[in-house]
Amino acid sequence: MTYSEINIPQRLIMTPGPVETHPLVQQAMSNRVLGQFDPAFLELMDDLKELIKVPFHTKNEQAFAVDGSGRSGLEAALIALVEEGDKILVPAFGRFALLLAEICERAGGEVILWEKDWEGPFEQADVVAKLEEVQPKILAMVHGETANGQVQAVDEIGAYCQANDVFFMLDCVATYAGVPIHVDDWGVDIAVGGSQKCVSAPAGHSFVTYNARTEEYIQSRYQKELGIGPERNERHIQSNYLDLSQLQRYWSPERINHHTESTVQVYGSHTALRLINEEGAENVWARHSLNDDAIVAGIKAMGLEIFGQEETKMSTVTPVMLPEGVNDAEFRSTLLEEFNVEVAGTFGELSGKAFRIGNMGYSSRKSNVLQLLGAIEAVMIRLGADVTRGEAVQAAMDVYANN
Ligand SMILES: *Cc1c(COP(=O)(O)O)cnc(C)c1O
Repeated sequence: MTYSEINIPQRLIMTPGPVETHPLVQQAMSNRVLGQFDPAFLELMDDLKELIKVPFHTKNEQAFAVDGSGRSGLEAALIALVEEGDKILVPAFGRFALLLAEICERAGGEVILWEKDWEGPFEQADVVAKLEEVQPKILAMVHGETANGQVQAVDEIGAYCQANDVFFMLDCVATYAGVPIHVDDWGVDIAVGGSQKCVSAPAGHSFVTYNARTEEYIQSRYQKELGIGPERNERHIQSNYLDLSQLQRYWSPERINHHTESTVQVYGSHTALRLINEEGAENVWARHSLNDDAIVAGIKAMGLEIFGQEETKMSTVTPVMLPEGVNDAEFRSTLLEEFNVEVAGTFGELSGKAFRIGNMGYSSRKSNVLQLLGAIEAVMIRLGADVTRGEAVQAAMDVYANN
């Protein structure tokens, strides 16, 4: 049996992840492997820790990568805090909050899942009132909900958590390096981002940062691996691989032996975050916002409806309601086959009724937006939808011209 050489088609990826990688990231990842304790590699790890802090806007000492996709960081963060029987409040305005609830439940926590409709995020005052009522040890929330494209304001919630000894965990996987995040000013104890969304590296790293009080708590649960020392800690973190108390020491000058870090993945994340640092976090956020304005203008000019509250829509995701008679799977496969353009479907209550446009990282650029809008319009017309013709790309071009 022989297999043919891999042949990767060229795509314009406008989904909420994974997105197109920057050519320099791709190039960096084609370099040779180094040993995980090679001084040249350790230098890259140290740089990466600092680069990770930039999109989080944090002065936290602790920031490092966890191997795996975004949920590896989410799981590591939550199981580092959750002990048997702990109360965790999880307010949900979309799908990913359910993942946080699931992880906490599996870790033996007592989860209070508090769901609202998907149209928009919570009022901060309502979350604070709920915290008063429930008195949880941990509040776990999603910053940007990728399923419905809504973003949650958290500064007042964070202030309450800091004043009342509640650990505040925030899932920033879909917003990290795309939407403004101010971990320190907002009072977030532990935040998580991912590599394959607005960072524009392949999936394989999640990025975690936490403050001093969280570090103290996590380190109170530290247990050496048996191969390193016999001491046991009865409060040890459940997982060995996703144990932040060990991972922190692996990424510190102590360099305790833990997993084998993927050197190639570090080259990729280092390059992607270095490019973001050079562009400047504020400029990166402004670029996503401008391209989002153009997408929204184009979709509206076509006469299509965007799901959810406009004021709280996240700039990195736009859910678009499918018009009468257009089938979700047929629309997306035609777009891919005819134009090489990929958009995403969605989940839960929106499944089959809307599609999602991602506007993330290296994919978030003017030429992509204009091509995307032209392609969507053509496919809509092809499938018999009653859309306004010839206006979408012009509306987007107007947004760019006026900026
Ligand atoms: C994508 C995403 C995740 C899951 O990340 P993976 O990288 O797919 O594991 C979690 N939360 C949010 C908000 C996301 O957008």
